[in-house]
Amino acid sequence: MPCTVADVLTVAERLWPADGAESWDAAGLVAGSRTASVERVLLAVDAVLETADEATGSGAQLLITHHPLLLRGVTSVADDRYKGAVVSRLIRGGCALFAAHTNADVVETGTSAVLADRLGLEDVAPITASAGDPVRGIGRVGRLASPTTLGRLARELADLLPATAGGVRAGGDYDRPVSRVALCGGAGDSLLSSPAVRAADVYITSDLRHHPASEALQEARLGAGPALIDVSHWASEWLWLDTAAAQLRDALPGVTVEVSELRTDPWDFAVVQR
Ligand SMILES: [Zn+2]
Repeated sequence: MPCTVADVLTVAERLWPADGAESWDAAGLVAGSRTASVERVLLAVDAVLETADEATGSGAQLLITHHPLLLRGVTSVADDRYKGAVVSRLIRGGCALFAAHTNADVVETGTSAVLADRLGLEDVAPITASAGDPVRGIGRVGRLASPTTLGRLARELADLLPATAGGVRAGGDYDRPVSRVALCGGAGDSLLSSPAVRAADVYITSDLRHHPASEALQEARLGAGPALIDVSHWASEWLWLDTAAAQLRDALPGVTVEVSELRTDPWDFAVVQR
């Protein structure tokens, strides 16, 4: 019997239970029919014109993204605007759209857990554990197998993550010793005041704004708080796609599951000042 969108959603619910999503989130099936057959799935961080075209062009019947396309209210899906164009192109191309967002962040193999694993962190725990579940939750904190320095860790991240115009930025002394690492894939400035982050030597996340970053680094200068490493939001979550794809392949034999290599980080270039 051919695999259907509903069959993939059943597997997705096991991997990333919907009740793990934040109350404001909009994870789940965004477009398409549950009864449609699925032979090919494409995974991407973002549902944008480029990934929608890649999905339909490659013959995928399902695009799974991390970010929900319709998170905030829309009043039109006319195809001369971004969200309408993405939905229209997917529907015309016979491709459903599904999002696994904060429900995919909190699981043991979620976005932050994958980044922690790739950095070789040990004794890993969530920064904020889900209620009644000490292994699930937002962000991860752990210990490096071998202590390093802030500068060397930033270099390691730059080599680990896919290339983006913004690269990797760090706040703190280049030679600051680093052993305890807190991290949160995606925008994690809301965790800056968490005890687990405050107790870490460095906090890795993305989308750090001036005031939260500046204030945290002033605290660090006074000896109480982590150095900061700011990476691309897209890059920090893109690493998770390989893990998710492997899990889907295991659960859905006969279905081709691929990861989009397109860079959907919004920045195309940066100029170095002289
Ligand atoms: Zn994100």
